[in-house]
Amino acid sequence: MFINHELINQLLKEAKFATTKDINDVLDKANKREKLDYKDIAILLEMEDKSQLDRLFKIAGEIKNEIYGNRVVLFAPLYVSNYCVNECAYCGYKCSNKFNRKKLTMDEVRKEVKILEKMGHKRLALEAGEDPHNCSIDYILECLDAIYSTSNDNGSIRRANVNIAATTVENYKKLKEKGIGTYILFQETYHKPTYIRQHGNSIKNDYYYHLTAFDRAMEAGVDDVGAGVLFGLANPKFEVLGLMMHNAHLEENFGVGFHTISFPRLKPAEGMTLEDYPHLVDDFMFKKIVAITRLAVPFTGIIMSTRESGEMRRELLKYGVSQVSAGSNTGVGGYKEEEEGRNVDQFKLEDHRTPIQILKELISDGYIPSYCTACYRMGRTGDRFMSLAKSGQIHNVCTPNALTTLKEFLLDYGDEELIAMGDELIAKEIAKIERVDIKDIVSNNMVALSKGERDLYL
Ligand code: SF4
Ligand code: SF4
Repeated sequence: MFINHELINQLLKEAKFATTKDINDVLDKANKREKLDYKDIAILLEMEDKSQLDRLFKIAGEIKNEIYGNRVVLFAPLYVSNYCVNECAYCGYKCSNKFNRKKLTMDEVRKEVKILEKMGHKRLALEAGEDPHNCSIDYILECLDAIYSTSNDNGSIRRANVNIAATTVENYKKLKEKGIGTYILFQETYHKPTYIRQHGNSIKNDYYYHLTAFDRAMEAGVDDVGAGVLFGLANPKFEVLGLMMHNAHLEENFGVGFHTISFPRLKPAEGMTLEDYPHLVDDFMFKKIVAITRLAVPFTGIIMSTRESGEMRRELLKYGVSQVSAGSNTGVGGYKEEEEGRNVDQFKLEDHRTPIQILKELISDGYIPSYCTACYRMGRTGDRFMSLAKSGQIHNVCTPNALTTLKEFLLDYGDEELIAMGDELIAKEIAKIERVDIKDIVSNNMVALSKGERDLYL
């Protein structure tokens, strides 16, 4: 099995004895942009010294800046069904929780999509519980058709990522044919005994089947996969090394690792109490593991949802996070109900701001909010995306696309204040572009967009 528990435990044990010099050596290595091995990562995970941590954050910030610049990609989740046959101890949707379960009709999917489009979203993450009968693969495929075929004035969803239960190669092929973006699946925990304990008598309680879902997805041709751990279930240091081993396994076998990693932390939910979880991750450890992940897998996007406060997201954007959700609702049919003044979140969200409010904060912090989905649209997925990212050339596509999609947002959805802030940022960013051909493309895009042309991305 490629998550070598014995090795992880041994590395963490040895790392407790790392000297100041050992830690500095790893930080020097990261500073020279050399690849870190498992031992290096374990050493960083055990690090506690304030000045060394400051250096870790500084290097992580520099790496983030070199690869992602000041762009931040935005998306929103779309919950389509809360039917679930599983008994995940930590989740409010577990089957022993009795409440009126719901799945959206196609008409309701289209209504939710229109609301999201009205907020300016172009990229969604479709979410559903596991229930082969009430929420079959055919239902998910139908939802994808409804999502991609629904438009609202200039609004359309250009990339639908999918977060559904581990499934078969055959089903992943069907998802691929429907044109999904990233297939997202959280391992929840890489620690097998914890995994077994947390998943009770469920079909999800097959550690190996769950762990090898990405192998099947890749075999089916889905080459952008998004991983995640529910931090708080087991020792977070173990989880980080588990993520790295999983990523390495995919790189070795399929030539490309995770496209993204998500960082959700365990939150209170119906039918569970946080008191039962001794490994909850405090803010200090959370920041540290995000920064270490940035060093360990520089080209993998890091996603942070509205489970985290605006303050935490703002801080982690500095040294790791490259994608955030905005204006999220985690209830099935939640966007419609929220519009009608009813709130039906699945679990407690911390950041309730609208996309416009989030965009204003991002712009005043010097970021370019991006609604770009060009790679997916141009077939730059899997190793084609990774080789462009690793060559450093990705900047030449991401920045023009970020500026173009921001302008598009301003024209379609911006209020007066945001338009002024956005236009000022766009002018400043265009002035910074060194390549004359790219500067011309972006300037031409701005003119074309203002004339109502939309299909302009590189
Ligand atoms: Fe179902 Fe997913 Fe919740 Fe588990 S985590 S109970 S599979 S919705
Ligand atoms: Fe993402 Fe590709 Fe757009 Fe860059 S060009 S923001 S990598 S989709």
